[in-house]
Amino acid sequence: MKKITIKGTELDVFPIGLGTNAVGGQKYYPNITDEAGREFLRKALSVEMDFWDTAFTYGPKRSEEIIGEVLAADKARHNVVLASKAAHQFTEDGTVYNNHPDFLQEAVKESMERLQTDFIDLFYIHFPDEDTPKYEAVGALQELKEKGIIRAIGVSNFSAKQLAEANQDGYVDVVQDHYNLLTRGAEETLFPYINEHNMSFVPYFPFASGLLTGKYTPETTFDEGDLRLNKPDFQGGKWQENLAKVDKLRDIATAKNCEVAHLVLAWYLTRNEIDVVIPGAKTAAQIESNMKAAEVELDESEIIVIDSLFR
Ligand code: NAP
Repeated sequence: MKKITIKGTELDVFPIGLGTNAVGGQKYYPNITDEAGREFLRKALSVEMDFWDTAFTYGPKRSEEIIGEVLAADKARHNVVLASKAAHQFTEDGTVYNNHPDFLQEAVKESMERLQTDFIDLFYIHFPDEDTPKYEAVGALQELKEKGIIRAIGVSNFSAKQLAEANQDGYVDVVQDHYNLLTRGAEETLFPYINEHNMSFVPYFPFASGLLTGKYTPETTFDEGDLRLNKPDFQGGKWQENLAKVDKLRDIATAKNCEVAHLVLAWYLTRNEIDVVIPGAKTAAQIESNMKAAEVELDESEIIVIDSLFR
C-alpha cells in the first residue's frame, strides 16, 4: 500500500482514513463508550490508518479530547495527519454557525488544546454561516497557515457559489461534502470547480451510514433512537430500491475476493477529485476491514459498471 499526497496540500497519507464521529460521539451514538472510541483509535494506529477526521461538534469536544489522549499516551502525534473542523456555536437560542475570523482562530486554538498538539494538519470551516464573507473566514485560516499553526485549509458543506467566494484568494485546499454512490449531486455542483482549481474532495457518509457496506437486508431493523430511522435512504420504497442496487455489487465483490464495502471505497478512489476517504466505524474490526480497500484495484470496465448501477 502506497501513501498519496492530498492534492492542494503537502499532506501524505494512506488513502483509507478514519471518520471519528463515533469516537466520543455519544451525541449521535449513545451506546458507544469513550473506551470503545479509544479502542478504535488504537486499532487505526496499529493498521496505519493515518488520516483522522474529527470536529468540535463530535461529542461535542469529546472526539477531539479522546484523540488527544490516545495520541499523547502512545506518543503518536507524528504518526497521524489530523483534520478538524469548527463553526458550531452554542448560544442561549440554540446552535448557530459562526465563521467570524476571531471565532475561527479561537476555535483552532481550542481544538489544538483538546488534541494536545501545537499544529493541526487540515482545518475546515465545518458549515457556512450567513453573515461572514467567505474569503474573510478563509483569510483567518490563511493567517494561521502562514504561522505554521495549520498546514492546510478546508471548507465543508459549502455551495459552489460559497466555495468560489471562499477561494477568491486561492487559499482553499480541500472540500468536504456529502457524497457517496447513492448521493452524487457533488459531481455536478462542486467537482467542476474542484478539478479546475486542483483541490481535493473528501466525501463524507461514504457508506451512506452503512447502507453501502452490503450488510443490510430487507429484514434489517434499527434500534429506537438510531439516526438511520430518519434518513430518507432508509425509508420505504427508497430503502428497498437502495438494497437492490447494493445487491448488484455482491457478484463483482465476490469475483474480486473482497467485500462490498471495499469495492465501494475503492471506487471512490478511482475518481480524480478524491485522494482519501474517511469511512466511520463502530467497531475495531470494521476499521481493520476498511483498510483492506486500499488493496482493491478496479479496471476500467468495473469502474463503469459500478458507476452505471448507481446513476
Ligand atoms: P459512513 O462512513 O457512511 O458509515 C459508517 C458506518 O458504516 C459505521 O458507523 C458502521 O455502522 C458501518 N461500517 C463501517 N465500516 C464497516 C464495515 N467494514 N463493515 C460493515 N459496516 C461498516 O458514515 P459516518 O461515519 O457518519 O461518516 C463518515 C465520517 O464523515 C464521519 O465519521 C465524520 O468524520 C465525517 N462527517 C462529516 C460531516 C460534515 O458535515 N463535514 C458530516 C457527517 C460525517 P454500523 O456498524 O452501525 O452499521
